[in-house]
Amino acid sequence: MKSFRYPPGRIHLLRLDTDSDLSDSITAYAEQHGITVGWVNFLGAVRHASLRYYDQEAKRYEDFVVDEPLEVVAGVGNISLLEGRPFIHIHAALTDEAGHGRGGHVNSGTVVFAMEVMIQELDGVPPSRELDDCTGLTLW
Ligand code: ZN
Repeated sequence: MKSFRYPPGRIHLLRLDTDSDLSDSITAYAEQHGITVGWVNFLGAVRHASLRYYDQEAKRYEDFVVDEPLEVVAGVGNISLLEGRPFIHIHAALTDEAGHGRGGHVNSGTVVFAMEVMIQELDGVPPSRELDDCTGLTLW
């Protein structure tokens, strides 16, 4: 296990624009405001979702699209450094009109209908993501 300890920093509340890209908007905000370590929560709705699933056996991502309006019942993520730049890692639990769930790692290409985001910035040196041989993922 690795662990990191930080005092809390600023809390940022954002309302993303309709038709903006969910992941790219949060990334751009973090870059503009120098946020390099933090935790992200969000809720709202998307016009469609571009997601990925990590195949643990094959150690590779499989991308898929859900091309319909969806509620974001829970979105969570974090901000750290990858190759020296702020990297936003977000996952979302989504539901369709019948309440059936989908979800996964959120890719660029997920288009916002309405979205409220909280970023809890943390104070200190951000963790850097590095390749983890055990999982094949870039982790803290
Ligand atoms: Zn992920």
